[in-house]
Parts: sequence; C-alpha cells; structure tokens
Amino acid sequence: MLFADTLFHEIGHHLDATIGAPAPSGEAAAEQWSNRLSARYLRKRYWYLVPLLKVFGALLGGIVRRRVAGWKRENNAGGKTPNQPGPADR
Ligand SMILES: [Zn+2]
Repeated sequence: MLFADTLFHEIGHHLDATIGAPAPSGEAAAEQWSNRLSARYLRKRYWYLVPLLKVFGALLGGIVRRRVAGWKRENNAGGKTPNQPGPADR
C-alpha cells in the first residue's frame, strides 16, 4: 500500500494538471486524488469486505457507542449535564 499511495499521489498530480481537482491545485489536489483513487482501488480489490465491514460495524458500533456513552456519563458525573441521569442516580 505504501507504493500505491505514492503512485496514486503522482497520478493525482497528472489528473490535477489535465482534468482538475475538487481541492486547490498542487499537493492538496494530488492528495485529494490519491484518496479518491485509493478508496476506489480498495473497493474494487476488497469488495467482499464491504458487506462484512457493514455487519461488523452494525454489531460493534452499538457496543462502542454504548461504551462511549457510559464513559461520557462517568466523566460528566460532576454535573455539567444535570438533566441526564448519571450512574449515581440509579
Ligand atoms: Zn506531490
């Protein structure tokens, strides 16, 4: 992938010079193109991971969101959000 990043970056310079880019030209434009080309390449090369990642994202996303919400509650227990019940209120 290191090689691909460099290659896509250089191709990005070429695309910027020929058809333009959504970012200001120069390095920013080459990076924008590099990101686009990398995403396209990964989707084409690892297409079978997309549904798997969606399933894992749905499964793990809920767990992660609950953990983050719990962590935020614990850290706000001092009382910055008085309307939300904290762990001490249960
Ligand atoms: Zn460059």
